[in-house]
Amino acid sequence: MNTSSRRNFLKALGGATALASFPAILNAATSGPRVIVVGGGFAGATAAKYLKHWSPNLNVTLIEPNAKYQSPIMSNLVLNGQLSLEEITFSYDTLAQKYGVNVITDWVSEVDGDSKTVTLGSGDELEYDRLILAPGITFNPVEGHDLDIVPHAWQSGKQVTMLKHQLEAMPAGGTFVMSIPPKPYRCPPGPYERACVIADYLKTNKPGSKVIVLDGNEDIIVEKEIFGHAFDVTYAGIVEYHKEVEITGVDSDKLIVSTKTMADITADVLNIIPEQSAGAIIKSSGLITVADRWAGVNPLSYESTKVNNIHIIGDSQGTGQPKAGHIANAEAKVCADAVIRLLNGGEPYTAPMTNSACYSPVSADTATWLTAVYGYDSATDSMQKIAGSGGSAPEASNNNYEEMFVWSNSLFGDVFS
Ligand SMILES: Cc1cc2nc3c(=O)[nH]c(=O)nc-3n(C[C@H](O)[C@H](O)[C@H](O)COP(=O)(O)OP(=O)(O)OC[C@H]3O[C@@H](n4cnc5c(N)ncnc54)[C@H](O)[C@@H]3O)c2cc1C
Repeated sequence: MNTSSRRNFLKALGGATALASFPAILNAATSGPRVIVVGGGFAGATAAKYLKHWSPNLNVTLIEPNAKYQSPIMSNLVLNGQLSLEEITFSYDTLAQKYGVNVITDWVSEVDGDSKTVTLGSGDELEYDRLILAPGITFNPVEGHDLDIVPHAWQSGKQVTMLKHQLEAMPAGGTFVMSIPPKPYRCPPGPYERACVIADYLKTNKPGSKVIVLDGNEDIIVEKEIFGHAFDVTYAGIVEYHKEVEITGVDSDKLIVSTKTMADITADVLNIIPEQSAGAIIKSSGLITVADRWAGVNPLSYESTKVNNIHIIGDSQGTGQPKAGHIANAEAKVCADAVIRLLNGGEPYTAPMTNSACYSPVSADTATWLTAVYGYDSATDSMQKIAGSGGSAPEASNNNYEEMFVWSNSLFGDVFS
């Protein structure tokens, strides 16, 4: 990151941190209806904040096992050393102290939709009037894939640190092999972005190295011109891109990946991103109804199509909207609004809109972007991309790279401060 982007990024984050020193105002339970939010990522933290912001009498409890949230967004810049993990780590203090969300550091082991209770890892049971589940994704690794040896780094924190250390230890002239799962998966441009960021890092730091990309899709699924140009031109001789590759197995100790159509490949660093499905608690609660992987919901309220009074937002939901943090933030607001209306005896708003935005670094000082706007379509009872909305950057540029920090700061601020 150049000096001015870095200064602005840290300045804005410093602003967010300062808010954490607000005096505790409401951290005790109120007498209003009880809403429990499970998962403090982009979806859950936004929902908890906006429920209290818009309806202070609600008794809102956020349950999240980690004391701080480590963002997957911008985490590829931790891999190349442009950001530290601390710079994309956020506390829940402001949600508790400024908005009055009851934050419990624990995980939910069980949901009972009949008795309207959740059971925590501690064994405690909590009752709700409305429950919002936002547990993100779970991974479905292929045979032999040990996630403690071969990182996916598709969640932040430990996984990203592991991959970063492996890259640092990789010899010059080495081979980095990564896979992209068939869609849908978290953050459509993210893996292509990663291939570029790592190719750029290796070009400078480990001359003679190669990046082999094994894509489970029919082709580059988003921003094909930009990523195709980066692979073929910017990183010519470094990136080797293969499409329609199905991973069949991984030897985690020997760092060998097997596929259906190619000979086995041995890597110096192996980064397999497994296929994904809704968070584990969605499955154990019997809420999976879409493609055997995602939770079906009413797109006006995000209420489960299976169990009343339970709402599902973020990467776990199965509306067909992208699995991304920016749109998870928008879904959370639609859901929070619907929950407040329902608790007041009303009906959800009938014309919700959401939008998605992904900025992708393509090198250490250029980036690209992709946006889309979705609206409720009553004819199909679904969220549909609005024709002519959104678009993508015409090219990777320094200006986009600068804007990426403004965008991410504003998203982080809207969720956590
Ligand atoms: C490299 C990369 C780049 C990305 N770039 C972008 C981008 O540019 N734009 C964009 O919009 N998105 C981007 N994303 C995608 C974005 O990070 C995810 O879509 C987003 O994090 C999803 O939010 P979520 O709240 O649904 O899930 P998460 O952020 O994963 O949060 C889920 C939370 O639920 C908690 N949880 C899970 N189970 C339980 C339980 N049983 N009890 C209690 N808590 C539980 C977890 O601990 C976690 O904190 C990127 C992702 C990656 C990997």
